[in-house]
This record gives sequence, structure tokens and C-alpha cells, in this order.
Amino acid sequence: MSTDYYELLGVTKEASEGEIKKAFYKKARELHPDVNKAPDAEDRFKELNEAYDVLSDSNKRAQYDRYGKVSGAGGMGGGYQYVDLSDLFGGGFGGMGDLFSTFFGGAAQGRAAVRKEGRDMGVGLRLTLAEVATGTTKEIVYDRLAPCESCSGSGLGEGGSFVDCDNCHGRGRIVTIQHTFLGDMQTQSTCPNCGGTGKTISEPCSDCEGQGRMPDRQKVTIDVPHGIRDGQQLRLHGYGEAGMHGATAGDLIVTVRIEADKKFQREGDNLHTRIEISITQASLGATIAIDGILPKEKVEVNIPAGCQNDQMIRVRNFGLKVFRKESRGDLFVHVTVVIPRKLSKREQELLEELASEFGDSVGGKKRVVDRVRDALS
Ligand SMILES: [Zn+2]
Ligand SMILES: [Zn+2]
Repeated sequence: MSTDYYELLGVTKEASEGEIKKAFYKKARELHPDVNKAPDAEDRFKELNEAYDVLSDSNKRAQYDRYGKVSGAGGMGGGYQYVDLSDLFGGGFGGMGDLFSTFFGGAAQGRAAVRKEGRDMGVGLRLTLAEVATGTTKEIVYDRLAPCESCSGSGLGEGGSFVDCDNCHGRGRIVTIQHTFLGDMQTQSTCPNCGGTGKTISEPCSDCEGQGRMPDRQKVTIDVPHGIRDGQQLRLHGYGEAGMHGATAGDLIVTVRIEADKKFQREGDNLHTRIEISITQASLGATIAIDGILPKEKVEVNIPAGCQNDQMIRVRNFGLKVFRKESRGDLFVHVTVVIPRKLSKREQELLEELASEFGDSVGGKKRVVDRVRDALS
């Protein structure tokens, strides 16, 4: 299926970033499955999202312009990770689709001058142990309700202002009188038109329908300090959902998930690793250089003479750097002594000599090849 992304959004190839964004919002409003009940609305909404995903990213757009397509499954290979919010938070917030329902769900309040604070949002961030060791900078891409650019978050269109609500005449409450056989009953309720504020917007911003915020794809760069723990959270103030009509935005809470490492296991700030040594190294002792956790780091492991299989050697200060400190944990090296599976003739002679020195009785069942070789020599 080859669809022209520009055609889908109804813009020209020369369209600016802003024009693309505007066109996307306009079409998304028409096609959002919550609004549009046509059977193909959902598919078309997905296509539209795909088109916006590509055209709103300058790298992907350049690739699309050149080759007519974007490589990589879902176009996620752009050097940043796109965090699916539903991935970690049990579908509590399901990306762009839900973002639009949140937006449209609140649209009834659009004209109302409600100052509602933005909610906190959560995203997950996957790190490797090597990234934890050095600390790193990551770009996070996520969808949120951001302050509307057209009205700077006020919700006011051109010449718009906050005016007294027609429905309640600025009182915020509505009094209804019911005539019953007991007499007149008076009930008060919150005015649905202004949400109880008594104010509405006379000329709401046409882009955000007076909400002061718009669904938007955001990129934020985050400095991850070294030594961070799995499950630890970093809070970015004001990067959560924007508030209505310029009210305070929520925070973005980034939960760190650390991938298992092939070589090192973490235990707090300490690391554990395993190395293989020969029987001679175990018997006579040796100094072995292994790769450390930091880039290009070499660690000298001193194997004592008479080292036993599974022995653990502690190398101080070669563990992880402590969170926000320069001190380091320790590295614990677990030793596997490898018994040779195959010996050359010379090796065998030397070991037999050693065995006789030890007074050991040796000589297992020989393999056929070895018997043949012995017979020939
Ligand atoms: Zn009212
Ligand atoms: Zn606006």
C-alpha cells in the first residue's frame, strides 16, 4: 500500500512544520474514532498518525522525500526511542489515540473558563548497564497535551475574552424551582455551560477549541546520572500534561528500566563477573587483565597461587560509580578453573611427571585415537 503522506494530510511538499502540525490536528479531529463513526475511520486515523509521525520528524521526512518510504519497522530507528506509554503503565494512557479522547472528552468545557491543572504523565526509559556506569543523555519522544501555540495556552481566539456566562449570568450555579404538592422546591446545581466558574470565552481559539492545549508529540532530552537504579524515577517538572487556560502543567515521570548485561551482574553499586583460568594459572597464580564496565577500562585481576574453582576475588573500586558521587563500588570476579579437554603429547608427559611427583595414580580410559597414536610413537 503506497499512500502519499502529503496527500493524506492535505498539504504541499513544501509545507512548513507548523502547517503540517495544523493540518494534522484538523484531520485528526475529523477522523478520530470517538467523533467519526464511519467504519473506516479508525484505519484512516491510523494512516494519518503514520503520516504525521514521518512528516513531523525532519530526518524521517527527508528520507521519505528521497526514497518515498522510511526504513525500519514503524520508523523507530531514528536514534531515539519512542516510548509507548501503555507499555509500562498498563494501558492507563495509550498514546495518541487516548490523547485525542482526553482532548475531545474535555471539549465540552472548551468555552468554559476552567483552570484545570495538567496531570502528571509517566514514561519508561530502558538503559543498558554500560549507560548506567557512565551516565547518559537520552531523548524521549512522547505524546502529551501541550500548550496551544496559536493562543499561547490562553484558549482565547483573536479578540476573545473571558465573559460572564449567559446560562448562569456569571453566578456559576443554576437555581431550578420545582412545583410539588409540598410547595416549591428549590435546587441548585453547577452550571454545565461554564463548569461553575461563571465565565466563558467569547471567541475561543479555533485550534484548541478554547482549551489552551493541544495534543502534540514532544521530544525532551534528559540527563541520566550515573549509578541510577532499576525502577528509580526522574521527574521533569512541567513536561507532563499542560493545564487548561495556562494552568500549571503536570510533571513527566521517567521510570528507569535497566537491561540485563551479558558480562556483569549488578548488586547495588558492586558488580559480579566470571572469568575462566587454566589449571596452571590456578596453581601458580597469575595477573589477568579483563575489560571493566567503563569504556576502554582494563581491570587487573590478581589470581593467587592455589586459587580454587569458584573462588571469588574482590577488586576494589572497579564496580559502578555511586549515584551522584565519584566513589565506586567493587568488582567481584568469580573464577572458573578450566580442566583441559585435550592434551598434546608433551602436555600429557608433563602432567604425568607432575602426577608421579604428587604420587597420584593416573591414567583414565584412553580414547581410540590416543591409543592409535601411542602405538605409532
Ligand atoms: Zn454558567
Ligand atoms: Zn489555542
